[in-house]
Amino acid sequence: MADKLIPSFQVDHTRIVPGIYESRLDTLCEEFVTTFDIRMKYPNIEPVIHPNAMHTIEHVVATFLRNDEEWKDRIIYWGPMGCLTGSYLIVKGHPTPQDIYPLMIRAFEHLSEYDGPVPGATAENCGNYLLHDLSIARYEAKQYVTRLKENPCFEYPVAERIQTEKGMTFFDS
Ligand SMILES: [Zn+2]
Repeated sequence: MADKLIPSFQVDHTRIVPGIYESRLDTLCEEFVTTFDIRMKYPNIEPVIHPNAMHTIEHVVATFLRNDEEWKDRIIYWGPMGCLTGSYLIVKGHPTPQDIYPLMIRAFEHLSEYDGPVPGATAENCGNYLLHDLSIARYEAKQYVTRLKENPCFEYPVAERIQTEKGMTFFDS
């Protein structure tokens, strides 16, 4: 049963496009915990998000999510992917990517227009408080909002299994 609950099992990363995807579904104390892949860039095709901007995205969006009246009580974690092509959002329960779509639009529209000091960007509150770039973070947020609105994608591309003459199975990618 657990295997069925992991839609990212056969994800072909060469075909991932920017969007919102369910990356994992876990259970914890009989409650669902859902990890979303908040993918902002085409992996291995276009330049990744600059580390400074990604750090700012982490701070501003995390702060936004933890203050969102509708979702704040269900937010467990928000943080960047090491590959710098997107972020992970972990929430209580099992909402769909479509359910969190309006939240992501709100969060990234907020960032795209954010003009204040980056929350928590002080030596007291952050492990590398100079590693920030709000203007690039705003640019990336605006691009992501445009992508989400023009071409909302919620389903991972699934690698097709091809049976060869010899009976071998491989991924067509
Ligand atoms: Zn920080």
